[in-house]
Amino acid sequence: MAPSSAASRLILLGTAGGPTPKTTRSGPSQIVVVGDRGYVVDCGDGVARQMMAAGVFRTLRHVFITHHHSDHNADYGTLLLLAWGDALRTRVDTWGPPPLARMTDLFLAMSAADLAVREKDEGRPPLRPLIHPHEVRRGGFVMKDDRVTVTCAVVDHPLVALALAYRFDCPDRSIVFSGDTRRSATLIALAKGADVLVHETLYLPAAPGAPGSALRTHVVESHTPVEEVGRIAAEAGVKTLVLSHFVPAENPPVTDDQWLAGARTHFSGTIVVGRDLLEL
Ligand SMILES: [Zn+2]
Ligand SMILES: [Zn+2]
Repeated sequence: MAPSSAASRLILLGTAGGPTPKTTRSGPSQIVVVGDRGYVVDCGDGVARQMMAAGVFRTLRHVFITHHHSDHNADYGTLLLLAWGDALRTRVDTWGPPPLARMTDLFLAMSAADLAVREKDEGRPPLRPLIHPHEVRRGGFVMKDDRVTVTCAVVDHPLVALALAYRFDCPDRSIVFSGDTRRSATLIALAKGADVLVHETLYLPAAPGAPGSALRTHVVESHTPVEEVGRIAAEAGVKTLVLSHFVPAENPPVTDDQWLAGARTHFSGTIVVGRDLLEL
């Protein structure tokens, strides 16, 4: 099969929202694989191991960061370092809001001792020339190769300076990732007519933090309740809605049926309650 006609695979690598490590879900990350080429979206805690568990670790070619909250970027540098420590010999392009380039440099500087030893001991090519960070500062076109076209939208996720949603138009379907956002008209426009929308979700009755606390206020004002996620999917006219970035992720527990019922309130298409390593 020619690469350009290859079917896309979407794998949810981590589905928890928030910086606290969870026992049942990894930090937010997903990968689109077309042929032998992998496009990672967000690098939550455990992304490298989750890629290995999914059997796609060596497909790494592009990394997209939606925004600089630690649940989304904590393992950005770690993924690059561990891929190189494994078998990476080829170029990786990374994309995301500033200061992505400086973060990349600082991470590699922090890892200099390991890099130097492995270059000498194991005959590895220097890592720095393989990594090409690109800072994305506005919505619109991001990149295109012979398998996917990636566009993005600036979404509303206070107090983060710049938060992005990404759309992948693959040979066989279109997949949109909301990143973290409260209801954003820009996200609905980006997702218009998409086959799959992977959207963050919040279960309001179990939102973290005491009522009236700064934490509760942040969570409610910068994320999207599950009922609203369904409404957004309906307005965008997507075929399949995939819930991910669960808040709360496990404590207190919210059942799949509760998530499903919330999203179903306003959306009649296919709804998938995400879990780690689920492939769609
Ligand atoms: Zn998040
Ligand atoms: Zn966030």
